[in-house]
Formats: sequence, C-alpha cells, structure tokens
Amino acid sequence: MNRRNFLRGAAFTAAALASPISFSAFGEPTRQTGKSGRLNLTFFPYELELRHAFNLAKFSRTTTPGVQVRLEYDGIVGYGESSMPPYLGESVDSVQKFLSQLDLTQFSDPFRIEEIHDYMDSVAPNNRAAKAGVDIALHDLLGKIMQQPWYKIWGLDPAKAPNTSFTIGIDKADVVRQKVDEAAPYKVLKVKMGLDNDKELVDIIRSKTDVPICVDANQGWDDKEKALEMCHWLAERNCLFVEQPMPKEKIDETAWLRERSPLPIIADEFLQRLPDVRRAAEAYDGINIKLMKSTGMHEAHKMAVLARAMGMKVMLGCMTETSCAVSAASQLAPMVDWADLDGNLLIANDIFDGMKIVDGKVTIPDRPGIGVEPLA
Ligand code: MG
Repeated sequence: MNRRNFLRGAAFTAAALASPISFSAFGEPTRQTGKSGRLNLTFFPYELELRHAFNLAKFSRTTTPGVQVRLEYDGIVGYGESSMPPYLGESVDSVQKFLSQLDLTQFSDPFRIEEIHDYMDSVAPNNRAAKAGVDIALHDLLGKIMQQPWYKIWGLDPAKAPNTSFTIGIDKADVVRQKVDEAAPYKVLKVKMGLDNDKELVDIIRSKTDVPICVDANQGWDDKEKALEMCHWLAERNCLFVEQPMPKEKIDETAWLRERSPLPIIADEFLQRLPDVRRAAEAYDGINIKLMKSTGMHEAHKMAVLARAMGMKVMLGCMTETSCAVSAASQLAPMVDWADLDGNLLIANDIFDGMKIVDGKVTIPDRPGIGVEPLA
C-alpha cells in the first residue's frame, strides 16, 4: 500500500470510529481528532451471534459475549477485540471494568509494547481476553504506523500458512451430515468429542468424506485407558491429533497417554500464557495458542517461538470472534503446524473484512497491521 492510500485508509478508519452509521448502534466511542501524541482507548460491547448452537462436552450456547476495542494515536485507529466464551471466566462486565481501569494516555510512545503489557499485568493478574483486546488494537495501530502487516514484521512467509480446520460440533446425526456438507470447502475438519456418541460422530463424517480430522475432546475423557483406546481407534481413521483428551488437572494420566498414543496429544485448556509452555512439555506433544488466552499477539508469538525451540508442535486456535481477532491470529499462521481459525466463519454478524480461507488455506490479508477493514 502506498503512502497516499495508507493515509486515506487511516482517515477512513478515523472517520469510521466517529461514524453514526457504523457505530452508533454499539455505543458512543470518544471522537479523536488531530495529533494527540497519546494512546486513547475506547470500547463497546458487541455480542456475537452463532450460526449453529455450539455444543461442547460440558455446555451449549447460541451467542458469545464480546467487546470491541479501539486504540487511537495521532489520528490512526487500531482495531481490537475481546471474546469471552464462558469457560474463560471473563464477561462483558469484567472486560469493561478492566479496560475502564487502564490509563494508556501515560504512554506517549505506542511502540513500548513490553511496558504496556507489564502495566496491564500490574493492574490485574488475569483478564486475559481484555488484555488481548488492547494488544490486538495496539498491534493493528503499530502495523499501520509502520505500514506493514505483522507476518512481515515477524519475518514470516504468508505462503507457509496451513489449511484451517473447520469445526463440526456435537449434534444429532442429520445435523452433523448437514454440517459436513457445509464444510466441503475445507481440507481439514475438527470434531468436538467427549460425549457417549464420539465414535458415531466420526463414523458419520467418514461416511461422507476422507479429509483429515482433528479431534478435540475438551477434557471429556476421564479414564486414561479409554482415552488410549480412542487414540488408537482415531489413528486408524485418518485423524491428525487429539486436543485436550483428559481433564487439565490429570497431568500424570495425560503424560501416560502421551507415551503410548499413536497420535500427538495437544494442550488447550491446560495452558494459557507463556510460562505454561514449559509445564505443558511434561505431558503434551504440542500446544494450542489462542490470543484470548495468551493476552494477545505479543505473548502468542513468544509462545510459538518457545514451543518450537522445545521441539513441540504448535497449533493456532481462536474463540468465536469477528474477523478482527481471527485476522490478528492469522498473522502467526506461517509458524504453526495446524490452524483452527474458523471463529469468524461461525458467526452471523461479523463487522470486519479480513483473513480469508482460500482453497481451505489461511490467507492473510495484504494490508498493514492485523489486516482488517470495518464493514460499512
Ligand atoms: Mg480446544
């Protein structure tokens, strides 16, 4: 993007921030004009509507609470997002309360990413999705200032981004068949397990397609012997790995399973942030990095670097999110083994244009920052 187009884009995003068409329905963000030389944070709740009810081993839901975040500096706007599926323990209230406590105007240099994260961690130890919203907006802003996408700043080749998996949730047989038909453009499927009909679900999918399947048990298998039997059964049916087979507290049992399983065992609920990667190495072959767990892109990148240095597999996941947070995650895709970036495809009310799945593959937008533009 040349300078003139970039400035036009920046002016557009700044105008969009104050546009009554785009945002009056969501709240009243602060209008920013001129060069402030300060980071200005605004945010508003935005509930995500799911295309299908999301059925996991332990609950079901049709919406995901979210908060949209904006970070402005000298008239340039960075976009961020917090998504709060209930199991993370955050809510619209807790995110807005945390964001309200932040005073980012103390930072005159937006490139002080480490200091900004240290400051957020000093305000409260948890609130990971809230911190991710700020971090994503900050990365979008910095990328726009540098006029580069983050995959390029990180030195990554976008052609190396993997295929994404597309999730088939636990459901009745006819609904599963319909979902498999809808998933025809995707070259990898992901199956949520952890109920009594796990094998039936895989059999239904295998009656329709041979594409590789990623399995996510979401801590649903309590018994290690049963988990091992499932791993063998799945390995015979072109499954790639098993994510979080057992409850996250069962570390010794998971390590026992990892020693014997023909499929790699990947940690998801077990780990959140960078210090957890070393712990995960004791019982898992790889980790599932998600921006809403890692407090955003900054720490997610460090986690991917550390895991690879330790010889672990790296998977990149997401929550149900708009194309904002999914596009931010996609910047990391060239350095992971497997991507599960379908969160924006699962919602009916996206408000951004960004990362696309082309021929099943994660395709990172050729735009600065996280690569998104707000939809009118
Ligand atoms: Mg998972």
